[in-house]
Amino acid sequence: MREGTAIVGAGNLDFSLQFDSQDEIGDLARAFDGMTEKLKLTTVSRDALVDINETLQAEIIERQQIEKKAQAQLARLNLLHQITRSIGERQDLRSIFQVVIRSLEDHLPVDFSCVCLYDQGKNQLQVTSVGLHSESLAQQLSMTQNTQVSIDENGLSRCVRGQLVYEADISKVNFPFPQRLAAGGLSALVMAPLRAESTVFGVLVVAKREAHSFNSGECEFLRQLSEHVALAANQAQLYTALQQAYDDLRQTQQSIMQQERLRALGQMASGIAHDINNAISPVALYTESLLETEKNLSVKGRNYLEVISRAIDDVAATVARMREFYRQRAPQLSLSPVNVNSLVQQVIDLTRARWSDMPQQRGIVINVHTELAPDLPDIMGVHGEIREALTNLIFNAVDAMPEGGVLTLRTSVVQDLLESTKEVILKQVHIEVSDSGVGMSDDTRRRCLEPFFTTKGERGTGLGLAMVYGMIERHSAHIDILTEVGKGTTMRMSFLVPTTVSPIARTPAAESVPTHRRILVVDDDPMVLKSLRDILEIDGHSVLSADGGQAGINAFNEAHERGDTFAVVITDLGMPYIDGRKLASSIKQVSPMTPIIMLTGWGQRLVDDGDSPSHVDCVLSKPPKLSELREALRKIL
Ligand code: ADP
Ligand code: MG
Repeated sequence: MREGTAIVGAGNLDFSLQFDSQDEIGDLARAFDGMTEKLKLTTVSRDALVDINETLQAEIIERQQIEKKAQAQLARLNLLHQITRSIGERQDLRSIFQVVIRSLEDHLPVDFSCVCLYDQGKNQLQVTSVGLHSESLAQQLSMTQNTQVSIDENGLSRCVRGQLVYEADISKVNFPFPQRLAAGGLSALVMAPLRAESTVFGVLVVAKREAHSFNSGECEFLRQLSEHVALAANQAQLYTALQQAYDDLRQTQQSIMQQERLRALGQMASGIAHDINNAISPVALYTESLLETEKNLSVKGRNYLEVISRAIDDVAATVARMREFYRQRAPQLSLSPVNVNSLVQQVIDLTRARWSDMPQQRGIVINVHTELAPDLPDIMGVHGEIREALTNLIFNAVDAMPEGGVLTLRTSVVQDLLESTKEVILKQVHIEVSDSGVGMSDDTRRRCLEPFFTTKGERGTGLGLAMVYGMIERHSAHIDILTEVGKGTTMRMSFLVPTTVSPIARTPAAESVPTHRRILVVDDDPMVLKSLRDILEIDGHSVLSADGGQAGINAFNEAHERGDTFAVVITDLGMPYIDGRKLASSIKQVSPMTPIIMLTGWGQRLVDDGDSPSHVDCVLSKPPKLSELREALRKIL
């Protein structure tokens, strides 16, 4: 029992005394064995404890691993959250991409990362953003910004179809794109599609040097991240599009307002022009006629008349110009090939007084330079109009340089090529007038094309640029104003170069002018009436004049009843009660073959507006020139 006590005491509970005597010792031994049995049931043996301990240890390690994973997951979630938040604050694509790439480089971390945009038409990727730390590697891989990457039949094509692609070791993938990255020492590659709605518009590329180094958690993270990035990028694009639409709308609104203003001012100017034309008609006709018919005028008288005649021409030209800027299109405008370089030379010579002599008197020097493109193609245009526009631009440039400076006239050809075939799709000639003068403020720049807008006070008319604008519109050309206060201004006119040059309009050879016809003249302005009658009579015609529409109709009908006919009727357009149109239609009803010439202070506009009265054979503007009148009669008769 002593030994037994020691064994059991050492923890071996499998021991028993097995002592069967029926005496007190036996009772004691049985009680001892009973105690060991009970102990066996209640106490765990040491071996069992060791076993349990080992299992517990294993469990702890497993739990620690799971916790580590959970922590990594949490860190990635945090990163995702942080990235999402900071891209949410951005509105432009590039800065969104930059944030994403930087965060991946710093926190995942990765050895290379970039974002490429996908061009579905070309089936190509374009590297749009490269990480700061990836820059040198990108150089080495020739994957810098704006590089085009064609899509081969490998992971890339799967990716642009919308799948996340993971290559654990690209050194074993024999396709150009993975090989390209492998050449830079990269091994593990993940490509995540950026998808808006159902279309993939880009790819997020990340890579590490060590093979098999992306675990499934990271792949899942990159997938989620790419979804967030795509969403933000899509929103940024929508935002930009919206902004663009808004800007376009504002611009359209402004240009409509501008057009309205130009139209209103144009109509006003046109009204004034009408009155002036009427007023100067008799003066013009008499002067011309006197100069032609009065052979024994004194030298002085002839001189005076010539001065008057020139002055009238000037007034007529100014009035015509006043109308010009508002004239929209001109179907009868005969365009002919214009050699811009020689035109520029001409204008420089013509304006010499303004940029050389006049400033020099004040001790100011303006240097004129030309930069004329050799082999400049001809443009189609109206020589006189373009010359006048250039003259105006030069005058403005000189005005802008009160202290002197440099005036440059530049011509150049600009071509747009079709990218695929290099075929010329658009060819333009640019004519630039540049000065180193005072420049324009924003407000002036916006308004300078308006008629009557001037910053020159009494000295300015505000008609110069309005005319230039009119010419530009009629030539379907374009004008750009590049200006900076204190630096100078460049006015650039762009003309389309036609592919085929239309033949030059020829003026018909002079033919003999008919004389001795019976002519009915109708006008409500007695001065115009008388002057017309007088000069027609000098040409040998017999003239009946009627002062107004109704009088005209009456005179015509009376003569018609007598069997008397007029060779031609010349009538004013605007008359009270019965105007030129009504008169014309009434005459044509009675005698459809009688030609009608209409004179109008509204000038060319009538014809241009497609408003030419149907019963009229020819429209002449006031003041009529003797030569024009004769030419019209010759054509009609
Ligand atoms: P005007 O010369 O009679 O003032 P324009 O229509 O030619 O009329 O020009 C309108 C305005 O545009 C000018 O008053 C001036 O303020 C501005 N401008 C035109 N050309 C220039 C230029 N080259 N440099 C600075 N301002 C200019
Ligand atoms: Mg001017």
